[in-house]
Amino acid sequence: MKRIALLGSTGSIGTQALDVVSRDEKQYAVTALTAGTNARLLEEQVRRFRPRLAVLGEEQAAWELKGRLADTDVRVSYGEEGLLEAASMEECDMVLNALVGVAGLQPTVAALEAGHTLALANKESLVCGGARVMELAQKKGVSILPVDSEHSAIFQSMGNRPLEEVRRVLLTASGGPFFGKSREELRGMTAKEALRHPNWSMGKKITVDSATMMNKGFEVMEAVWLFGLAPEQVEVLVHRESILHSAVEFRDGCVMAQLSEPDMRLPIQLALTWPQRQEGAIKPLDLTQIGALTFQKPDRENFPCLGLCEDAIRQGGDRGAVINGANEVAVALFLEGKIGFLDIYEMCAQALQDQPFRENPTIEEILEIDRAVRAQCLGSHIALPR
Ligand code: NAD
Ligand code: MG
Repeated sequence: MKRIALLGSTGSIGTQALDVVSRDEKQYAVTALTAGTNARLLEEQVRRFRPRLAVLGEEQAAWELKGRLADTDVRVSYGEEGLLEAASMEECDMVLNALVGVAGLQPTVAALEAGHTLALANKESLVCGGARVMELAQKKGVSILPVDSEHSAIFQSMGNRPLEEVRRVLLTASGGPFFGKSREELRGMTAKEALRHPNWSMGKKITVDSATMMNKGFEVMEAVWLFGLAPEQVEVLVHRESILHSAVEFRDGCVMAQLSEPDMRLPIQLALTWPQRQEGAIKPLDLTQIGALTFQKPDRENFPCLGLCEDAIRQGGDRGAVINGANEVAVALFLEGKIGFLDIYEMCAQALQDQPFRENPTIEEILEIDRAVRAQCLGSHIALPR
């Protein structure tokens, strides 16, 4: 039996992970479930999967949940302390981090410190703290298994070949809901339009990140950190069909790719069952139905967030943390209708200019940088007459 702590269980990845678990419950024990605010769904999940620990974001809500769960032996906790405990409980084999944003960084560190295998959906952990996170994983001898579909595809395509044999990685992008739009069209795009993704149903933040292509930029960084690649070795290709989830090109010219229907339950299940594969969580791929797969270069001019991230990973240091902090603020303001779609890029580019470069920040320093960037972005937004 694999004992799993699931951080962010009420989100898009979290609920799909529980769907995977529920297909073969004898195989798993859920040790902890955590949610930000959705107490009702968390309660439902707790009653169904009976973890030892349930964690909510806020104290008041946690007290209420504790009252409602009085008939069970499930412990209820809250806030950052609760999350860190969920990530580091001794009676656990694997932590699936499906939190969104930099909020996932410390739990990632806590899981690795505790020596737990980490199934990582929270790419922001690597965007902000990639150097420190990978260093810690290595020191502790802990595996990080990618849950992001592209990185799962790269991981599978890599097989057990040595890194020296890899020429480059082809990282595919759906292009998001605004593919093909002109700059003028993009200017007027609303949150409602950005949230209509053609191929994937995901949390709001990553859906907006897909629309700006910031998500693909973050995935370039994620690939660099996870696989030890040079930034120049990661090439982004737009592939509208979302069937080929990424590929590895080897020195001899051979390209190995992973294909399947676009369904996150496959990479989630693979991370949970690794190193084994099991009966499919998803519908089989019918290539004759799909007919053709297309690939093209990304439009870096109209989607400049991609290039911003590519530059950032080449510069290294704290640049990922700066972009991420600015992007979290910008996406939240965009979702509230307070800034325009193109302002997301502007806010991130401005933060990179304004923040001094720091070479090799510790986790604590990264969190400080994150706070400084957020304060600055919120301040600059309030100062702007709109
Ligand atoms: P989501 O918004 O649907 O879910 C996030 C979860 O984290 C929820 O349970 C929420 O309650 C919790 N949470 C959010 N903020 C929190 C905080 N400050 N403290 C404690 N808990 C908090 O997000 P998602 O789409 O499931 O994405 C999760 C992560 O997986 C992201 O890093 C995303 O980039 C990555 N990812 C998602 C998908 C997808 O298909 N959804 C695909 C690839 C990668
Ligand atoms: Mg992805």
